[in-house]
Amino acid sequence: MIDVGIIGGSGLCNLDGLKNKKEIAVKTPFGNPSDKIITGELAGVKIGFLARHNRKHIFTPTEVPYRANIYALKKLGARVVLAFSAVGSLTDKMPPKTLVFPDQVVDKTTLRANTFFGNGLVGHAPFGEPFCKCLRELLIKEAKALKIPHSKNGTVIAMEGPAYSSKAESQFHRKMGWHLIGMTACPETKLAREAGLAFALTAMVTDYDCWKEDEEGVTHAKVLETMKTNEVYAKKLLAAVLPKIKKLKLCGACNETLLNTFSAEQRKAHKATWNKIKLILEK
Ligand SMILES: [Zn+2]
Repeated sequence: MIDVGIIGGSGLCNLDGLKNKKEIAVKTPFGNPSDKIITGELAGVKIGFLARHNRKHIFTPTEVPYRANIYALKKLGARVVLAFSAVGSLTDKMPPKTLVFPDQVVDKTTLRANTFFGNGLVGHAPFGEPFCKCLRELLIKEAKALKIPHSKNGTVIAMEGPAYSSKAESQFHRKMGWHLIGMTACPETKLAREAGLAFALTAMVTDYDCWKEDEEGVTHAKVLETMKTNEVYAKKLLAAVLPKIKKLKLCGACNETLLNTFSAEQRKAHKATWNKIKLILEK
């Protein structure tokens, strides 16, 4: 069993230095997760690491099996999930090689299964504060102590992709006052909330999207170089944060599920659905 799930994206596809390392193929009622989950001890904490796009990077942001991923981490015992993701920046205030701990998300995805509910059992998870405040505070504190360039908050857009934004879209997002754009924050964040997991995203800025007229726009080579620096920061931050998570008192919404929404009668009437989602709803 693990205490903390870590989801790594582009720029954090592997973790080194795990003790008692094992690879586990977890089966879920929502299909297979993106990859085997790598379990072990990191900084004295039992973790499970999952490469969101698979270690061979075979899933587009649309194809990532988000439900299976969240289900699998919860099945292994995680109550806390730290997600990492590469993003484009929409503001000079968050330049490349900055880690941002977003407090808000805008879901612009259209082609993804974004809930564990349905098929008879309907639930509506609260999502006003999408990310866990206590986890974010811890990440911010440790990033500051490590002198990692960071931003305490921000609004991240989840777009469908896999192509990047057009200039018109990028300008529109800037006018809305949003800060970052990526392709995976949703439905991952929503599913983590439905599963009652304490969840925080560390968004690693790789580029300025395409809004800057004096920039050449997004090129793969430029993104890769910046991602290396971000990876070093992310790993340092993880090592500092993990030992402190155990003592963390989890805050409200991220530690609750809609378990009690469903009566015994409803559970019985939709038994197959209930059996499929009960692990997600149970503590
Ligand atoms: Zn919390």
